[in-house]
Amino acid sequence: MILTSILVKGGTVITMDPRRRVIRDAAVLVKDGLITQVGKSADIKSQNRAEFEVDASGRAVLPGFVDTHVHLAQALIRGCADDTSLIDWLQKFVWPLQGNFDAQDGKASAELCMLEMIKSGTTTFLESLLHTRYGLDGIAESVERCGMRGILSKTVMSLPGYGSEKSIMHPGMVEDGETCLREVESHFKRWNDRADDRIRVWYGARSLGGCTPQLYKQIAEGAKRLGTGITMHLGEVQEDVRYAMKEFGKTPVEFMDQVGLVGSNVVFAHGVWLGEKEWPILALKGATVAHCPSSNMKLASGITSVPEMLRAGVNVGLGCDGGPSNNCYDMVREMKTASLLHKVRTLDPLTMNAETVLEMATIKGARAVGLDG
Ligand SMILES: [Zn+2]
Repeated sequence: MILTSILVKGGTVITMDPRRRVIRDAAVLVKDGLITQVGKSADIKSQNRAEFEVDASGRAVLPGFVDTHVHLAQALIRGCADDTSLIDWLQKFVWPLQGNFDAQDGKASAELCMLEMIKSGTTTFLESLLHTRYGLDGIAESVERCGMRGILSKTVMSLPGYGSEKSIMHPGMVEDGETCLREVESHFKRWNDRADDRIRVWYGARSLGGCTPQLYKQIAEGAKRLGTGITMHLGEVQEDVRYAMKEFGKTPVEFMDQVGLVGSNVVFAHGVWLGEKEWPILALKGATVAHCPSSNMKLASGITSVPEMLRAGVNVGLGCDGGPSNNCYDMVREMKTASLLHKVRTLDPLTMNAETVLEMATIKGARAVGLDG
């Protein structure tokens, strides 16, 4: 049964609107899939009848969370690699497992991941790297059925390495650049704006050492032509900085800017090792950093300078990353981790207060994926 009107009443509504209104004993009226009224329960109830009512007494009613960095295909392999650092984690555990996935594994993993996201309040996610073998069509069908908004980024790569570590990728994960570019376009034509406008198709550029500079330029040009977005892991580990300086004589963000891949349609995951000279470039171009504190702590990658980036005007969202780098896809836990991590680093209890992390999990995340309207 499809309901055309739902009334959520009696809860405390945390609006995240421009005035940051918090309304007690409030109601939210949803009609034909859109929120049409927010206000005091008594006012809205007296004016409207809804087909279905939800009693939210004693509860908080929040906007849906936007997870800005997710790997759908990793839900099946959570817990496969604990107590190890990123490149070993990829080479010895994650890539060999994912390199044997087929489209049924991809779909099952995506559904498990989406179920966990729905249960913990996430309504929108940015999937960062869908390899061809996971079967984007099957995953998109699952997004269509489950009711979430999904931004599905198809992997684009041409080199089987990470930074200066060449040819370390499992053969089952290796794809070629021209085929990747063609597949992004065909997935875009088939799925972008589908499922009542809930699906988007983006470019998922592999991290430094996974693409040639020419391929990064082609990705930037392709995204411009299609009017779509790009996401990429950047500055997750120190190797990204070493590699960019050695190969290109530039910092990671300077290099990405040179190849045209810094803009308001771009989400860089992690950004742990991006320095203070790089933040103004991100702020000026309107690019987002997806902060993934649990993953960065678990893989001992480092601590992203989030309060400093926010002060520099960078849009920063939150991400749970993947099953084996976090062991869950729960944005509430991620908000807690983000808040605590930066307090203890800066020795300042006012850093990353509740409102700031809630903004990152909601409106800043929505801005990251172009849905803040
Ligand atoms: Zn990731």
